Amino acid sequence: MPPSLKEGGGVIVVLVYIRQFICQASHHHNMTWGSLNEYPKAVVHIDGDAFFVSCEIARRPELRGKAVVTGAERGIASAMSAAAKRLGITRGMPIFQMRKLCPELVVLPSDYELYSLYSLRMFEIVRRFTPVVEEYSIDECFAELSGMRRVHHASYEEIARRIKHELETELGMTFGVGLAPTKVLGKVATSLAKKARVVGRGDGFLALPSRDVPGALACFPIEKVWGIGPQTAALLAGHGVKMAGQLAEKTDTWVNKVLTKPGVQIWHELRGTCIHPVCAGARPPQASIQKTKTFTPPSCDPSTIFAQLSKNVENACIKARRHGLAPSRLSFFVKTGDFRCYGHEIKLSRPSVLPSELLACIEPFFHGLLRRGETYRATGVTLSHLSGEGAGQLDLFGATLRAENVREVYKAVDEIAAKYGKHSVFLASSFWAHGSRASKRSEAMGESSTSISPKRKEPPRSAARFQGETPRRRVGLPYLGEVG
Ligand SMILES: [Mg+2]
Repeated sequence: MPPSLKEGGGVIVVLVYIRQFICQASHHHNMTWGSLNEYPKAVVHIDGDAFFVSCEIARRPELRGKAVVTGAERGIASAMSAAAKRLGITRGMPIFQMRKLCPELVVLPSDYELYSLYSLRMFEIVRRFTPVVEEYSIDECFAELSGMRRVHHASYEEIARRIKHELETELGMTFGVGLAPTKVLGKVATSLAKKARVVGRGDGFLALPSRDVPGALACFPIEKVWGIGPQTAALLAGHGVKMAGQLAEKTDTWVNKVLTKPGVQIWHELRGTCIHPVCAGARPPQASIQKTKTFTPPSCDPSTIFAQLSKNVENACIKARRHGLAPSRLSFFVKTGDFRCYGHEIKLSRPSVLPSELLACIEPFFHGLLRRGETYRATGVTLSHLSGEGAGQLDLFGATLRAENVREVYKAVDEIAAKYGKHSVFLASSFWAHGSRASKRSEAMGESSTSISPKRKEPPRSAARFQGETPRRRVGLPYLGEVG
C-alpha cells in the first residue's frame, strides 16, 4: 500500500477524535443549539475605552494615570478616566461634588472636533483589515472579517488581535474588542472582555467562537443584551428567563409566541445565526445626516405634515448626537401628492442638535412653503456642515446657556431611548407622527430611513494628514508608552 494512503487514514482518525471532543465539549455546556463551525461569520465589535478622556490623554500624555474628566462646559462629568472611576466618579456627577472626592481632579471642556478626528482615524485603521466596517457611534464599530483569513494569512482571532494592537499603538488609547459569529454576540464578547479587564483578567479582548457561546451566555444577564430593553427583559423574567443562555435555549415556537420580531431576531443572533449584517456603507460622521419619510394617506393638514417633519428632525438629531456632531446648516423639504418637491435651506447662527431649536428655525419657512388645498406625501430633513457639538459660540442673549439645559434633557432622552427604544420620549410637535409602540420597536433595530450621504470631496490627503484633518486642526501624534 502506498504510504500516502496510510497517512490519510491517520488524518481521518484524528478528525473523528476532534469531532468526538467537540461533541463532548458541547454536551458539557448542555448545547442543544449553535453551529459546530467556529465562525460561520466573523464579526468583530470594537469599542473605545472612556473615549473622550482617552483622546485628551493621547493629546496630553502628562495626564496619563491621573483622574481626568471631560464635560467642564456643562458642569458635569461626561467621560471619566480609569483613575477617576476608581475614585467613585460617575457619569453626570456635578463638578463640585467630584472636587470633594478628589481635589486634584483634572476637569476638561469637551472638544468634539478632536474626538471626531480620533474617531475617523480609528475607523481608518480598522478599514486596513476589511472594507466592511460599520461605524456605529463615535467610538464604536462593527467589522466583518469573513473571508479575510487568506488575505491576512491569519486566523480570525489573529486578525482581530492585530486590529486591536494597531488601534492601541497608533492612537495611544485602549479598546475593548470582541470577536463572534454575529453582531449581538460581538457586543456580548466586548462587554465580557471589558468586565474581565476591570478585575485584572485579560487585556480587553475576547474571541467567542460558536463552541464557547453557550458557556458565555449562561451567566450573561438578559437585560445586558444589545437590543433587549427593560420591558422585554421583564417579560422574559416573567417566563423565568433571566440569562441570555436561557433565551438561546428556547425553541423556535416558544420565541415566536412570546416575542415580537426584533426579539426573535436577537434570539437568532444569540444562537449564532447572523440576522443583522454589518452595513459597510462608508458613513463618515462628518458628512450629512438625512431623514426622510413617506406617510400614508397623503395629507393637506399643516399640523399633520409638520408632525411628520418634526419626527424626521428628531431622528436626525438622535443620530447626530450619537456621533457627537451638530449641524450649522439644515435643509428640509415637503413632497406633494404628485411628487413635486419644495424645500428650503437654513443657515443656523450656531451649531445645534436640539430638535426644538431646529424646528423653531424651520417653522416660519415651512408655513411659507405649503399651498392651500395641496396634499403632501413625504417630508425630509438634511443636517449638514456637521462639526463637534461644542463648536457653538456663546451668544449675547444666553441662548447657548439655555441650550445647555435643554441638552441635559436630551441626554436623558437618549439614555431612555437606548433603554426603552427610540421615541419613548418625543416632542409634542411630532405626536401625530408617532404610531403604535409596537411598530416603533421594530423600527429601533432597523433604521430603514436613515442615510448619511458620502462625504463631500476631500482635498487630496498629504502623507502626514489624516482623513478629516485640516491644516488648522490636526491630531497630534499620540504618546506610545505603556500601550501595546
Ligand atoms: Mg466606548
